[in-house]
Amino acid sequence: MIPLIDLKYQAQKIKKQVLENISATIDNADFIMGQKVQELETVLATQNAVEHCVSCSSGTDALIMSLMALGIEKGDVVLTTPFTFMATAEAITLCGGTPVFVDVDPNTFNICAKSLEKTLSALKNKHHEFAGFPDVLKQSPDFNVKGIITVDLFGNPCHYDKIESICDKHNLFILRDAAQSYGARYKGKSIAENGDIITTSFFPAKPLGAFGDGGAIFTNNKKLTDDLVSIRVHGQGPNKYSNIRIGVNGRLDTIQAIVLLEKLKLFDAELAARQKLAESYAEMLDGRFQLQEISESDVCSWAQFSLLADNEEHRRLLLNKLSDNKVGHSIYYPTPLHLQPAFEYLGYSVGCFPIAEDLSTRIFSIPMHPYLSLSDAEKATGLLLG
Ligand SMILES: *Cc1c(COP(=O)(O)O)cnc(C)c1O
Repeated sequence: MIPLIDLKYQAQKIKKQVLENISATIDNADFIMGQKVQELETVLATQNAVEHCVSCSSGTDALIMSLMALGIEKGDVVLTTPFTFMATAEAITLCGGTPVFVDVDPNTFNICAKSLEKTLSALKNKHHEFAGFPDVLKQSPDFNVKGIITVDLFGNPCHYDKIESICDKHNLFILRDAAQSYGARYKGKSIAENGDIITTSFFPAKPLGAFGDGGAIFTNNKKLTDDLVSIRVHGQGPNKYSNIRIGVNGRLDTIQAIVLLEKLKLFDAELAARQKLAESYAEMLDGRFQLQEISESDVCSWAQFSLLADNEEHRRLLLNKLSDNKVGHSIYYPTPLHLQPAFEYLGYSVGCFPIAEDLSTRIFSIPMHPYLSLSDAEKATGLLLG
């Protein structure tokens, strides 16, 4: 079996040191938000060239806490991509806001700047005939467009220069969902250097994964940081038992910080290995499949390596071949969010976001992790080309 993502090899590499450090944590009994958590926050902020890092319990909680700190409430619209993991848009609804989707670019698979401008103009002019105008807003026209959640899909940074100039013009915040892009670089900059507030996830299968759930939020804004620190522990005030707002339980376990500090020591080499594997895949596939377009000036963190089949039937045949030969694969994402039952209340239908819909019928991912051997990579691509 060639797994899609192999976590076992890497886990063995750090196991001894992790166990030693966990043993010290057991002796100190500082299980939650212990000293290693503070150390992790300092290291993450320094490595990403950002002033503040607030660790938290998951990438989902990082999104929810960020939207709470940004003050999202009922009547607020937050734009995002329909071609992402559920958590991105779910967080908007959980905070009382309304997600409005914007179609993606057919080459980068990320939110499309041109579609963003069109959607903003349609919302402003109450242009109800626009395909991406959700029914739910036609019925309650008193809404305020507050910001956007960008997603660096599979680790590919969005084109932030374009997005930032649009958001500046319309006075919108940028919340960057970097759950899949830890380590990515946009024009040489870390994930924390574009966007007002940046979230990431330490779910085990992400580029930087823990041995359980975890996440982090980055910002250069001191006020947002203070609010996030308060929101993380039930809206606590200056004293432990004063509560100045509604918050959540968003704390990170000390054990996860220990794991992440060890994994960070391997991270640069792992990112380079992912990069090398992606290059080998592209060479082996020799232009026979459309791949995700990464700008020359950017670094992708390769959370997934994705290809497009010609159509749904072609994809089915290819995936059967991979299954028959025990090569791991997956489809991210088989259903764009506007067609998920959970978002039916927004009132979108088939045809609203044609690019996302087309990608969802053709896309698939093949094994991608830093320890995949060249011969396994050759086996996977050989099956696709054969
Ligand atoms: C994984 C993921 C999340 C959620 O992260 P968790 O740590 O699993 O809560 C959010 N957004 C995107 C794009 C993701 O891929």
